[in-house]
Amino acid sequence: MTRRPDTSTRVAVIGAGYAGLAAAVQLRRRGITSFTVYEKASDLGGTWRDNTYPGAGCDIPSHLYSYEFAPYRDGRVRYPAQSQVLEYLRTCARDEGVLPHVRYDTEITAVRHDPATRGWVLHTADGRTHAADVVVSAVGQLHRPHVPALPGAEDFEGTAFHTARWDHAHGLDGRSVAVVGTGSSAAQVVPAIADRVRRLYVVQRSANWVLPKPGARFHPALSLLLRGVPGAHRAYRSLLYRRSEAVMLRALRGNRAAGALLRGMAVRHLRAGVPDPELRARLTPDFALGCKRIVLSSDWYPTLARSDVDVVTEPITRITAKGFETADGAHREVDTIVYATGFRTTEFLAPMTVTGPGGRLLHEVWRGGARAYLGMHVPGFPNLFLMYGPNTNLGHNSVTLALDAQAEHIAGCVELLDARPDGAAMEATPEALEAWQRLVDEGCDATVWAGACTSWFKTADGTLTNNWPYRTSLYRRMTAHPGGSGFRFRAAAGAAAQGTGDPRQVAD
Ligand code: NAP
Repeated sequence: MTRRPDTSTRVAVIGAGYAGLAAAVQLRRRGITSFTVYEKASDLGGTWRDNTYPGAGCDIPSHLYSYEFAPYRDGRVRYPAQSQVLEYLRTCARDEGVLPHVRYDTEITAVRHDPATRGWVLHTADGRTHAADVVVSAVGQLHRPHVPALPGAEDFEGTAFHTARWDHAHGLDGRSVAVVGTGSSAAQVVPAIADRVRRLYVVQRSANWVLPKPGARFHPALSLLLRGVPGAHRAYRSLLYRRSEAVMLRALRGNRAAGALLRGMAVRHLRAGVPDPELRARLTPDFALGCKRIVLSSDWYPTLARSDVDVVTEPITRITAKGFETADGAHREVDTIVYATGFRTTEFLAPMTVTGPGGRLLHEVWRGGARAYLGMHVPGFPNLFLMYGPNTNLGHNSVTLALDAQAEHIAGCVELLDARPDGAAMEATPEALEAWQRLVDEGCDATVWAGACTSWFKTADGTLTNNWPYRTSLYRRMTAHPGGSGFRFRAAAGAAAQGTGDPRQVAD
């Protein structure tokens, strides 16, 4: 006999990070109050809660990295520290009245379609069940740390941890530390700890392109302007937005002039930060600028150039009890290993299992790479909406722009469903997904991401599953119509399909 769910709600949002909170706000703003945000941790914030490593912050300016419904208005801080983004999220959640909807310490491990109710049942790690008509997954792309399985790791007698699981009880003063990885996280943590440790090894598998990052605080004159002139904040955000769309997107899409401009900046930045030509050669990437996410930092190169910092470019072959060994046979003694090795980004929604109507497993459907119409809708999974899903990461602008669009779109979908008889459901058509994917794949193929590099944007076989390759405004336009022709609606059992869009009745 099946057990009755412990609770039930109209909409279940999974995850109280940047995306989940945006969805909650947009639901509430439309007067939809029957929703619960399930959060596995005891606090909100997602990646901004988890990444507390020294130096953690946002390399996208605050004015751009903020909700459209809660514009950033601080005229002093240009780039926020991790704690400031977290505080911003807390303030937004409180001011928008979503905090009472968040259910903490509730990890959803499985989501199953229930043929009896035609809704979903969410299963938690502690054995409870919660029913919902609509599920919004907002679990992020960068939430499951990737720690490489290096031989001998279990023999290490020191302390090892990932940047997203920083061990604050482990002081670094006077330690000998290896940081593995040279992505955006490493570029923030390495300069932040270099003064405290005795010896620092930075283990680089691939060199990254690095562009300078201006100071975290505004110049006093600009600060005065921002605080004193009406509309200045909005104008500044608009300027940042347009610059990213005009220059960065063009460069990523292979425009020679834009690429040369950014590459020239990166080469000059490297030359200025690293006087030693031998080290400079090792820090010069062998792939096109933008193929991997560009690192933004002004203190990364000067830190790597320090005499007490070693850049190790020989691959690690083995971790030993006292340190690590590299392919050239050298052994370096360390007491701390920091894995700045990124996240399991292409396994969308994992480790949660999603079982749709007829027992279809989402991860089986996604065997060849995750796909979703508008990055949000998977045909065959009615009333399941994804935030920050496949091909919605922005490589050229603030991802928050895509998340704003998704939150509004999804809340709009719920509104549409609410206008129909109980039990109504919507899902994307296979044709809509196919056309969308063709567009996305064509766009991705024309970008530098498709070039010869590995990155968190693509699967092991090179399929670009994470990024959106066009202007942000196009994504905004495509997602502006929740009930467009890419969907089919299912009326309540026994009732006729009705409504806008393409309301063909579907059976499950
Ligand atoms: P990442 O960009 O995926 O970088 C991981 C690094 O670890 C790479 O240098 C990679 O080398 C290296 N690595 C992985 N496995 C390895 C192994 N077995 N041996 C040696 N090296 C290995 O991860 P991340 O730095 O955590 O950044 C992930 C994303 O989070 C960023 O791209 C960005 O989108 C976001 N982020 C944003 C901010 C911000 O300020 N907004 C800050 C931090 C992170 P290869 O390159 O050779 O694979």
